[in-house]
Amino acid sequence: MKRAIYPGSFDPITLGHLDLIERSCAIFDEVIVGVLHNRAKKPLFTAAERMEMIREVTKNFPTVKVVAFDGLLVDFVKKCEARVVIRGLRAITDLEYEMQLAQTNRVLSSEIDTIFLTTNLAYAYLSSTTVKEVARLGGNIQAFVPEIVEKRLKDVYQV
Ligand code: ADP
Repeated sequence: MKRAIYPGSFDPITLGHLDLIERSCAIFDEVIVGVLHNRAKKPLFTAAERMEMIREVTKNFPTVKVVAFDGLLVDFVKKCEARVVIRGLRAITDLEYEMQLAQTNRVLSSEIDTIFLTTNLAYAYLSSTTVKEVARLGGNIQAFVPEIVEKRLKDVYQV
């Protein structure tokens, strides 16, 4: 059973994240989306809300599970009985941070490997932060997020 963990904040999930989940499903038997709920920066959506949105937009992928986690990623990966972490690389600017994270995790737990998927070019510019900013200012976010996320963002910002 090849199981991978795709961790992140997903505040909220974008079409870029979703594309990565879909492609991971083609490689792994099971993909656990790990939703980080202990952030220094206060997220816009609670972990429960973020998980609900992810579950809704991945409901047609039977091998996807959505689980909240806190604390060290390597501990969560072990608890899930997995050995692979998936991360997305959008641009070269992601690389430095992602390398630091992956190398640190390798030192903490040498049996865990990080696999990077390059993002779909169509979503390479996309981040949850940008989407929230555009939504807050009343811009059209249809091209960035699934429909239910669009609705939730509009509700939050009352636009
Ligand atoms: P984090 O706060 O851990 O970076 P994010 O939710 O921002 O959490 O991202 C989770 C993962 O998804 C990261 O590996 C990130 O590189 C990747 N990711 C973010 N945006 C995109 C995108 N547009 N396309 C593909 N992958 C993305």
